[in-house]
Amino acid sequence: MNNGRNVIEIEAKHALGKSGMKELDYAFNPYLGCFHGCRYCYAIDMSPDAVRENWGTGVIARTNIIQLLEREARIYRKGVVGVSTITDPYQYIEMKYRIIPAAIEILSRNGFYITIQTKSPMVLRDIAILEKNKKNLDVGITITSLKPEVSRLVEPYAPAPAKRLEALQKLSRSGINTWLYLGPLIQNVNDNLDGIEKIVEFCGKTGIRIIYDSFQDFSGTLPYMAGTGYMRSDQAWWDRMDYDIKRICSEYGVSCTLERDEWKYELSRKYGKLF
Ligand code: SF4
Repeated sequence: MNNGRNVIEIEAKHALGKSGMKELDYAFNPYLGCFHGCRYCYAIDMSPDAVRENWGTGVIARTNIIQLLEREARIYRKGVVGVSTITDPYQYIEMKYRIIPAAIEILSRNGFYITIQTKSPMVLRDIAILEKNKKNLDVGITITSLKPEVSRLVEPYAPAPAKRLEALQKLSRSGINTWLYLGPLIQNVNDNLDGIEKIVEFCGKTGIRIIYDSFQDFSGTLPYMAGTGYMRSDQAWWDRMDYDIKRICSEYGVSCTLERDEWKYELSRKYGKLF
């Protein structure tokens, strides 16, 4: 038990796994489950039963993952590694395990490109390592809404949105390639255009690009989303949102990419403009 939350330590068999995301060659997930407890999290469906059934209250820590990574990074084909894809790499137990800075060093040393996504300003703990390896990595921070009450409703234990923006700005000012993940956009929860415009305005002022996407209601999310007032993403709603987000971004001169098109952005980044 850890502050009323369960942490189970296990030994993993592999450090680098396959990712379902086209833009990633590997996923690096030091934890299974996530103490941020976001109700919309697609990882609920990908987590072991004990974690899924009490989402946000239990996490499995893969304590030998750095030893495994040392070996795999030497022998696996080089590529892009997502840190992390089904957990938050900087949830509070990372203060104890300190897996991420070691992973960044190993992956960078062995020629991998790293893309980090988090909701936590704890990422600033590693800013010196991130800066040192900035040619080999980018860092994204998720914002669902700048309104604390909306954030608390759908991501009850995640750090406050204002703290996340501060962290993003500090990373960007350090010359680290940063992006803001706007989403997931959920009908009737965080699809207010005024709120979205404030987020885009921040990105316009700070020169940070946006990746955005809509909520996908995987079955595991449904019991947790009940009571939030959400409506399922329908095509007409999303077509309108997609149009409005692109329009607002264009007004503020902000580069934006739909998450499912991010692989095109990554290919263009590596090989020049292709799309
Ligand atoms: S921070 Fe990310 S991984 Fe953690 S619960 Fe929220 S969406 Fe899922």
